[in-house]
Amino acid sequence: MICLGIESTAHTIGVGIVSKKNVLVNLREAYTTESGGIIPMDAANHHKDVKDDLIKRAIEEFEKLGKGKIDLVSYSRGPGIGPCLQVGKNTAAELAKSLDVPFIGINHCVSHLSVGSLVTPVKDPVMLYASGANTQVIAYEGGKYRVFGETLDQGIGNFLDSFARHVGLGFPGGPKIEKLAKDYTGDYIELPYSVKGMDISLSGLLTNLKNKHDSEKFTLEGLSYSLQETAFAMLIEVAERAMAHCDKNELLLGGGVACNARLQEMAGKMCKERGAKCFVPQKSLLIDNGAMIAYQGILEYESGTREKKVDIRPYERTDDVLVNWKN
Ligand code: AMP
Ligand code: MG
Repeated sequence: MICLGIESTAHTIGVGIVSKKNVLVNLREAYTTESGGIIPMDAANHHKDVKDDLIKRAIEEFEKLGKGKIDLVSYSRGPGIGPCLQVGKNTAAELAKSLDVPFIGINHCVSHLSVGSLVTPVKDPVMLYASGANTQVIAYEGGKYRVFGETLDQGIGNFLDSFARHVGLGFPGGPKIEKLAKDYTGDYIELPYSVKGMDISLSGLLTNLKNKHDSEKFTLEGLSYSLQETAFAMLIEVAERAMAHCDKNELLLGGGVACNARLQEMAGKMCKERGAKCFVPQKSLLIDNGAMIAYQGILEYESGTREKKVDIRPYERTDDVLVNWKN
């Protein structure tokens, strides 16, 4: 079976085409701003503007491979920004009609997890899902993907982007902070560390960082370095505790922030100390992408899921998803 998946939960519209074994095509276009965050209608209009060309290019690339025909279309139904999700759903509906194939809606967070098993040997991991809006530690237990820990206020990526915006770096801020941190050779600057049970909180840390920056007593490099050391240690701590609690010996990274080399290094170290394995898919599958939506489409369709009510679910949680594709 071959599926074309459409991702449009936030800033990225992605079109991916996959088989059960391989990613065949994975294209994306991202909405960016010079300053400020995502304006929902602007992002949705961006997606509307580029969608036709993106699908055309994806199908052309796919046809060149000579791998047969597309059997299914999937789209991310949530969680995400309503107007952006609507573009994805409408595009999927139109495309499915024109190709005369079925289409189904997919939970974005769960597909980040599933795609790990398409491209790495991971079997039963705890996933640290560190993206813009979402920050969760997820594992499969008792027939469901359960959230063992999460942010109590904002996603790690949004936190990085907010600090970046405050100090005059554009969006997305994560890669810029990573670069500044890398060049720093000074001491760690003390920052508040906030792990509450299995959850983390980032807003106090953000305020503290903004105040420190505004006091002009610290360099941006020093703050960026110390920010990463603090916030990432919080993520790794809850991920490690979830691994211990669930007795799992694999960690899978997902989400745009997982592109960060320092976070990957910390995750690898923690796993090594526990005798566990750390899996990191390639960057094009860590960030929001259509290929993971397509792969999840195949898993669910082959397990019998059929779209009864075509809709978007902007607030759908990972643990709301009925899992029928695992045995
Ligand atoms: P996603 O929502 O999964 O597409 O991820 C987007 C988020 O990832 C944005 O908040 C970016 O700032 C962040 N991001 C992307 N690359 C990096 C990086 N190298 N280090 C830290 N954050 C990153
Ligand atoms: Mg995501």
